[in-house]
Amino acid sequence: MRTTRLLTVISLALAGLAIAACAGSTAPATAPAAAPAGTPAPVATPEPTPPPPPPLTVVPDVEARVAQFARTPLTADISALPASEKKALAESIAASRLLDEVYLRQVWTGNPALRDRVLAYDGPNAAAAREYFAINFGPWDRLKGFEPFIGDTPHPDAAGFYPPDLTKEQFEAWLAAHPGDTNAFRSGFSVIRRRDSGELYSLPYSQEYLDLLRPAAEHLRKAAAATSNESLRRFLRTRAAAFLSDDYYESDVAWMDLDAPVEVTIGPYETYEDGLFGYKTAFEAYVTVDIPAESSKLAAYKAELPWLESNLPIPEEHKNKNRGSESPIRVVDLVYSAGDGKKAVQTVAFNLPNDERVREAKGSKKVLLHNMLRAKYEQILRPIAARTLAADQLPHLAFEAFFNEVLHHELGHGLGPGRIKKDGKDTEVRLELQELFSPIEEAKADVLGVYDILALTKRGKMPKELLDTVPPTYLAGLFRSARFGVHEAHGQGVVSQFNFLQEQGAIAVDADGKYRVVEAKFPEAIKKLLNAYLMLEARGDYAGTKAFLAKYGVATPALEAAIGRLTDVPVDIRPLFPQADELAPEIVPDAR
Ligand SMILES: [Zn+2]
Repeated sequence: MRTTRLLTVISLALAGLAIAACAGSTAPATAPAAAPAGTPAPVATPEPTPPPPPPLTVVPDVEARVAQFARTPLTADISALPASEKKALAESIAASRLLDEVYLRQVWTGNPALRDRVLAYDGPNAAAAREYFAINFGPWDRLKGFEPFIGDTPHPDAAGFYPPDLTKEQFEAWLAAHPGDTNAFRSGFSVIRRRDSGELYSLPYSQEYLDLLRPAAEHLRKAAAATSNESLRRFLRTRAAAFLSDDYYESDVAWMDLDAPVEVTIGPYETYEDGLFGYKTAFEAYVTVDIPAESSKLAAYKAELPWLESNLPIPEEHKNKNRGSESPIRVVDLVYSAGDGKKAVQTVAFNLPNDERVREAKGSKKVLLHNMLRAKYEQILRPIAARTLAADQLPHLAFEAFFNEVLHHELGHGLGPGRIKKDGKDTEVRLELQELFSPIEEAKADVLGVYDILALTKRGKMPKELLDTVPPTYLAGLFRSARFGVHEAHGQGVVSQFNFLQEQGAIAVDADGKYRVVEAKFPEAIKKLLNAYLMLEARGDYAGTKAFLAKYGVATPALEAAIGRLTDVPVDIRPLFPQADELAPEIVPDAR
């Protein structure tokens, strides 16, 4: 009863909006087919019952697939938060939960109906099927290139953003015939639908997901009313307005200025889910709290950035003294994540916003998830180290080292050559190295992170234990990265670190196949390797980079064997959020 009434209200609201929007050039003349607007609500006359769907089929190994993800509770220290900020936290979580539902539809419009069937399913492996559906936000295995694990519907590149069978050619042909539709169709904040007559039309997110975005905005406004932090209030208010206007610019700017104990990232951001064009943004949320101790350490490292640039092991003329645009970094603990930010393999850091207008005006901000990193350290890095490192080096493995390597990797992206001169003309490393830029820049940041920690430790700016813990922790991290695809470009960047350091004698393999760092040779070898990467970048040397990766980027049989011993280590974690469940309990989908 309740569901039907709610549906009626939503239908009327959607119909009203559609009419109001008709004055615009690209709004549909009728309400979308997805919502039953325009027809009377089916209260009195029951519709003819459709034929029952075929029984669900679930892949037999679904339990093993779920087991790849180690269930791990993530919590934050919120004891110091005043009641006002706890309330803001709780309301932000409540808003985020609604975005889980938006994202489920964005992945595939058939998902909500299928989710109901999965919840009702009581065949073999029912619990695992439900869990894996939740992990993947749909019936396709994201670790296996979107192979279906429930049913046999192929994954549509169009996701839930376009009609599932729409081709690129049809889309472009429509725009060629209707150039006035171009902006609305290519917008990051609209879906494309098709009428029975075959005509295409666009519908902004604020209408397509109104039934969820309106209550989400309401929660954000309540959070804004609760907080006593002005920067958070401004972000939450402007973001709530954006949910209903599809204009995210002002709230993206407000997000850059956030300086609050509760740090919220919520909205439509990344476009990877749109496999057709990469235009459409997916909703996600990261509700986090600041870690004051980590933030103050970070501030100290940032003050060292000019010194770190001058300390690079390359000739003076290649150092980048005016790479001024320093982008803010925050270190936080995750309390709840939602949607695109929670699917399958978990993010440990993100860099937003993506809107180039905001980037030009304000830069971008990097956020590191401290408790997510710790979870991955405990569940993945430690077991990998136990299977690959010599026993006497295992006691030196340390989370502090792992965390600082990630942090200084991120800082390292801002050091070294960026804009360069090649053959007398101004250019950029990225443009010269093309598809090899990303693997070489990531490898550079890995090695520079280690180099900088060792340098800052010697300078008395970091604890001296890191001199012992960073090398073996870094080595274990190489196995972690090499685990996925040593044969593609990114894997080659990882393998090149490994092989170069082994050639220099800084990494050795014992008779039992276990690896060790040779500490006496490690710092000098790291310096040489860093010099190699930085000079390839400084010269914009595409051919040299290609040759370097061809020489060092191939995994040896011994390395392949070591990676082969990692098959029983979890691929990733499945985060659980007990604090969120207390602060803002989940509403079961049926109750909406
Ligand atoms: Zn990186």
